[in-house]
Amino acid sequence: MKDKVHEYLKRIDKAYSLGLIGKDCLSHAIIAHDDYCEINQNGYCNCDPDITIKTDKGDVKIDSSGHLLEDKS
Ligand SMILES: [Zn+2]
Repeated sequence: MKDKVHEYLKRIDKAYSLGLIGKDCLSHAIIAHDDYCEINQNGYCNCDPDITIKTDKGDVKIDSSGHLLEDKS
């Protein structure tokens, strides 16, 4: 049986495990899904979403393995 966990939640969970999202700060996650993502049809996220975590210490972006992405701006 295929595990039914949204791809974006897996990534946020990894980032949390790596300490990129702290327990001691307020965080907002902005998830930008691809057009083909099944979440757009009330399914489970299966895309390669752009994830930005906004914290009171600044914004971070995380990649598919939950690691920090370099800011390209
Ligand atoms: Zn998605």
